[in-house]
Amino acid sequence: MLLWLLACSLSSSPEKGDVKPVLPVDDAPPITALITIDTWRADHFTEALTPNLWALAEAGERYTNAWSPMGLTTPAHASMLTGLLPWEHDVWANNHHGYSLSDTIPVLPEQYPDRATGAFVSAYPAGPTGGFHRGWDVFDGPGEGERPGGVTIAKALDWVPSDRPSLLWIHVYEPHGPYVGDGYTEQERYASEVRKVDQMMGPVLSFLQARGATIVVTSDHGEVLAEERCGYQHERSISETVLRVPLIRWSPGLVPTVVNDWVGLTDIPALLRGKSPAQRDHWVAQSGMCESDCAPGCDPTGLAGRDTVVFSEGGRWVQRPGKGVYKEGQPAQKNKKLLEQIPPFVSPMQSQTDGAKSLGYIDP
Ligand SMILES: [Zn+2]
Repeated sequence: MLLWLLACSLSSSPEKGDVKPVLPVDDAPPITALITIDTWRADHFTEALTPNLWALAEAGERYTNAWSPMGLTTPAHASMLTGLLPWEHDVWANNHHGYSLSDTIPVLPEQYPDRATGAFVSAYPAGPTGGFHRGWDVFDGPGEGERPGGVTIAKALDWVPSDRPSLLWIHVYEPHGPYVGDGYTEQERYASEVRKVDQMMGPVLSFLQARGATIVVTSDHGEVLAEERCGYQHERSISETVLRVPLIRWSPGLVPTVVNDWVGLTDIPALLRGKSPAQRDHWVAQSGMCESDCAPGCDPTGLAGRDTVVFSEGGRWVQRPGKGVYKEGQPAQKNKKLLEQIPPFVSPMQSQTDGAKSLGYIDP
């Protein structure tokens, strides 16, 4: 395996267009792969900064209008694994706040009963304490803190079976703070970490493409840099820099397309299965918590107080507890009603749901 990866690494090139769709060279069993790059901003997905990922997108589908429902790792990944929004799967905050995905909600690996399933994560908020281990044959991640993406990737690729179909999830954490990359400013160090992840991904993508895998790459959320009062605190923000995410899908023979439709992390299960995302003309999201220093007028503060936002063409509606409803730009009037449809905050003790929910992509 390592020699194979080395060969792939040497043959990969960061130049645009060098990563071509590669049909399986033999009858290797299919792979479906989800790669999540934590805290990766959509505006840091560029040909210059992330050439390997950009080349994958140029050869497949590049989604320019993709969104996260919340700037928090556990709720956003729960949406990817269930096809549900946070107020539907009831993981309203990270696992260290006591939230865990209910055993009654179907999860992604359960939809692949005939495959080997392996999840390899790099940080505690994406770990088993959030209930994410359920359904996987192998779930590998740190018991606390984080670990280098290279360690996670090596474990993941050593696991991929060559004799049966598989479902693979790789999560890397590098872009998340603290930023330890090169540079004099936080912005430069953040960009450096994103660049490092792209370099890590080069051999991974080459391997998966050579195996004819279906590959979906995205992020759980972006980041606030210096644009807002509370820099580097993505959990408190409803800004586009936090909630807009990169999204790529590649599979052999897929017609290269730039997709401008409204898509979100709840579409990930469908995209992995080769289906189209849900049709919509807006995206609803929430902040992960509220602090009046970051969101003026917000009351109550903490996990229970949250900004809710509806993005659409022309602008956005915002509902801020303690302040009311207001708009920025000229959003469609009809979307104002969507703010009222979000159920009230649920504490961890209340979040074990009744099992009536299901993955959005399951066929009737
Ligand atoms: Zn995250």
